[in-house]
Amino acid sequence: MAFEGLTERLQKAMTNLRRKGKVSESDLRQTMREIRLALLEADVNFTVVKDFVKTVRDRALGAKVLEGLNPAQQIVKIVDEELTKTMGETAVPLNKSAKIPTIIMMAGLQGAGKTTTVGKLALKLKNEQNARPLMIAADIYRPAAIQQLQQVGDQIDVPVFQLGTDVDPVEIVRQGLAEAETKHNDYVFIDTAGRLQIDEQLMDELANIKALAHPDEILLVIDAMTGQNAVNTAQGFDDKLDITGVVLTKLDGDTRGGAALSIRAVTGKPIKFIGQGEKMTDLDVFHPNRMSNRILG
Ligand code: GDP
Repeated sequence: MAFEGLTERLQKAMTNLRRKGKVSESDLRQTMREIRLALLEADVNFTVVKDFVKTVRDRALGAKVLEGLNPAQQIVKIVDEELTKTMGETAVPLNKSAKIPTIIMMAGLQGAGKTTTVGKLALKLKNEQNARPLMIAADIYRPAAIQQLQQVGDQIDVPVFQLGTDVDPVEIVRQGLAEAETKHNDYVFIDTAGRLQIDEQLMDELANIKALAHPDEILLVIDAMTGQNAVNTAQGFDDKLDITGVVLTKLDGDTRGGAALSIRAVTGKPIKFIGQGEKMTDLDVFHPNRMSNRILG
């Protein structure tokens, strides 16, 4: 279950608070200390935690919540609102080009779930908008990567453009886009290469693909289970590529939740989708308020 530890600890902090009919400033301080520890243990970015705790405390004191009715309940409400705000307030839809095709470039480290996510998104657009996507196989470093995308394409009945592993990725993308124009595809996904960690050569290649394709959307695929590293990775990719959004994968296995809570606040870029399983249908729009409810349990 996602957020197991965090939910349990936040609930405990809130239960302790609810037990007190009147809440003193020192009770509030104690609660905020528990929340702070719960968030740090969930691997939430230190600065994000600091800002969050300060905001909640200031709001609780400023609104004279402690003197009002049901202070505990009101503090829970403030925590919920601020958690939601930390994650971006509202859902942010996929960018769409005024004229077809909308070009979506996918980036991310190896194993983050890029290829799987391309398939999931293509299927979602097909099912919800009757879209006719094309997927371009631009990872030439692992022959298995092209095969894998082809398998995904077969599974969801979406065409894949590929030129094998001997052609430069930028050239593959150029020809893939020409193909999409000929075939009137309305969405093009570019499945790019990943590495085990960020390196300059990869970033240069991605920058070159971006310069050629002028994507409407650059989605960074991030593995939620990597916690703080996910945030550092996001920052690294964003510095170089100026990403437009994040897909957070493997949330189904993320028991802590640090990445989900930190990425937006640290990078300023919205989480647009979350992956919650290996099946092609396991992709959902990210709703910060729903996620906050889920975290608070
Ligand atoms: P890529 O190297 O970034 O293209 O990563 P892949 O798409 O090959 O995914 C790596 C592994 O993660 C595969 O076994 C996927 O099935 C798995 N995976 C991807 N997304 C999710 C997810 O949301 N939840 C779970 N549990 N597994 C996922």
